[in-house]
Amino acid sequence: MKTYDFLVVGSGIAGLSFALRAAAHGSVAILTKRGAEASNTAWAQGGIATVMGADDSMDLHVADTLDAGAGLCHEDVVRTIVSEGPECIEELIARGVQFDSHKENGVTEIDLGREGGHTRRRILHHGDTTGKEIATRLLEACRRTPGITFYENHFAIDLITTARLGLATGDRCLGLYVLDEATSLIDPRTARHLEGSMAALLADRTVIAIAHRLHTAHDADRIAVVIEGRIAELGSHADLIAKNGEYARLWRTWRS
Ligand SMILES: Cc1cc2nc3c(=O)[nH]c(=O)nc-3n(C[C@H](O)[C@H](O)[C@H](O)COP(=O)(O)OP(=O)(O)OC[C@H]3O[C@@H](n4cnc5c(N)ncnc54)[C@H](O)[C@@H]3O)c2cc1C
Repeated sequence: MKTYDFLVVGSGIAGLSFALRAAAHGSVAILTKRGAEASNTAWAQGGIATVMGADDSMDLHVADTLDAGAGLCHEDVVRTIVSEGPECIEELIARGVQFDSHKENGVTEIDLGREGGHTRRRILHHGDTTGKEIATRLLEACRRTPGITFYENHFAIDLITTARLGLATGDRCLGLYVLDEATSLIDPRTARHLEGSMAALLADRTVIAIAHRLHTAHDADRIAVVIEGRIAELGSHADLIAKNGEYARLWRTWRS
């Protein structure tokens, strides 16, 4: 089983940015459930808000955000995000992201738009494909970085924790259970730990026992029965037994 210093789930702006930072400290695997290009980030059109204008300030941006949030925002979180904005923009530019700009007295200045609840011009954009530009440049940067490995079409199913493995140490996350969507196979050894009763099924046939939700494996088990690379049945243990199909047959075989 391969081990990495960092496992990153997701290839949007958050995952890719984190991966690039983490790569300075160790090996990184990025898991993403579709192709690496697939993310909400790539669809974001309008742009990114940050404080850059001479007439703008962190306090104004915070106030606008809290106002637009209509009581739903935590001010400390808003303040942190807003205050880190300019540095994050600098990082994106350093990674190759191009925002629309113009020349002002021979000096290049980024175009700032105003929209939504913003009372100042603070939206940076790249035409109307800002997210696509960000995703593309960050992906290029990740692909250029030797310590980063992509696992595309790999669906993170659940955390591997010492508690779940029954190890007598403090609870620690050891990694992830991952569904390789290209082949619909996971490592049978890890699946055995995930749901002991499924182990024999997994050992005998291509059966994947997975937990649907991160953190709460035991109340939301989902099982995929994979036959010749195709998911034939998907559901909870109880559902699949009631359905009396391939899974139920395998289960009975194993039980006997
Ligand atoms: C149409 C649209 C327009 C938008 N416009 C704007 C805008 O103008 N300005 C703005 O600031 N924001 C906009 N947004 C919101 C913005 O895109 C998101 O807030 C931002 O991209 C989130 O980035 P992220 O990295 O957190 O997540 P995402 O970009 O969503 O990336 C999540 C990644 O995780 C992967 N993933 C998810 N689950 C699993 C799993 N179980 N296993 C493996 N991989 C998994 C996904 O495949 C994806 O790669 C827009 C969003 C959309 C959809």
